[in-house]
Amino acid sequence: MDENTSDIGGNGIEAPGGVWDVVVVGGGAAGLSGALTLARVRRPVLVIDAGEPRNAPAAAAHGLLGRDGIAPLELLRKGREEVASYGGRVVAGRVTAIHRDGGRFVVECADGRRTAARRVLVASGLADELPDVPGLVERWGRDVVHCVFCHGWEVRDTAVGVLGSFHQALLFRQLSEDVTLFLRPGTDLTPDQWEQLAGLGVGVVEGAVSGLETDGADRLAGVRLTSGHTVPVRVLAVAPRFTARASFLGGLGLAVREHPAGFGEQLTVDASGFTGVDGVWAAGNVGDLMAGVPAAAASGTTAAAAIVMDLLTDDARAAARTRRAEDAEVFGGRMEAEVTRRVLGTRAHGVDPLPGT
Ligand SMILES: Cc1cc2nc3c(=O)[nH]c(=O)nc-3n(C[C@H](O)[C@H](O)[C@H](O)COP(=O)(O)OP(=O)(O)OC[C@H]3O[C@@H](n4cnc5c(N)ncnc54)[C@H](O)[C@@H]3O)c2cc1C
Repeated sequence: MDENTSDIGGNGIEAPGGVWDVVVVGGGAAGLSGALTLARVRRPVLVIDAGEPRNAPAAAAHGLLGRDGIAPLELLRKGREEVASYGGRVVAGRVTAIHRDGGRFVVECADGRRTAARRVLVASGLADELPDVPGLVERWGRDVVHCVFCHGWEVRDTAVGVLGSFHQALLFRQLSEDVTLFLRPGTDLTPDQWEQLAGLGVGVVEGAVSGLETDGADRLAGVRLTSGHTVPVRVLAVAPRFTARASFLGGLGLAVREHPAGFGEQLTVDASGFTGVDGVWAAGNVGDLMAGVPAAAASGTTAAAAIVMDLLTDDARAAARTRRAEDAEVFGGRMEAEVTRRVLGTRAHGVDPLPGT
């Protein structure tokens, strides 16, 4: 079992009544918030989580009102406990396939476990594809960062290198007067952008980056160029390409689209998280590359509420059908014959019993 996930309620994934109302794929902020909402209205819900939340490398999650600075894994541990306290089940596992089977979905895990659900909430997050610079991956989430809203305050007033976009340089310039933009060979800036960078005092270094330098305390110390020159920085901001973790959903016919700003690929969803495929919702980064933890959690809650409405519409219709069938039973021919027999006995249909019978 992955250390980032703990099975709550055993690792079995059999539904209490044979079929879960909802299987949630992914137990990050989005999936757990969705599961919490579902469990609190007594919907049988199972979360299957591979235990690799995107922000795991970071020491703290920032920007969460009331919980600012909480360790990412601690937040999820609390979330799993909250889901379980309302009867939701959270298990460690990796979903490898989901396909429709009549009116339900069959969910398959890498270890061979299978289960069934009436609805699916996809909350599997995204993968950050980092620039191919030796030594960079190892520093991800520490002194190699991407998001000014997540890490900005923490890197204030330090020497920041930006191996990303012009806009990222502007974002980090709010936090530090010492910002250097590393321009990959072939990157063009408009005259206006050059002027803006100069006006803001952002340094620009043109040339390919070949590696990172660290100091004796394993802190980032500089960015090395192929020219051999090293530019001292304490923090490096990069612009990963974001890709929704959705390859295992091939059988469902979900639509993936490029983010309008070209940041990567995400699932297509509407405001409620509905994917356009009956019975399938998505929440968090898988459908919104830009969502931070609070937005991911909120989208999980929103999607769960939409799923509840969908389920209860089905349930209420089924209840009405059952009632009609029972009514038909009460007033149908067989029941009428039975009532007639009990009330009228042999006088049924006005025929008097024969003497002696
Ligand atoms: C380094 C870093 C620091 C960040 N810091 C902040 C911050 O300070 N504040 C902030 O608001 N945001 C921050 N973010 C953004 C934050 O990580 C995301 O907003 C958040 O994780 C999105 O939540 P999610 O539930 O959509 O996805 P995730 O948190 O990534 O959770 C998805 C879960 O689904 C699981 N999963 C994936 N595929 C499968 C599968 N096939 N089967 C089962 N499970 C699966 C994963 O293992 C994971 O546990 C940071 C991001 C990074 C990269």
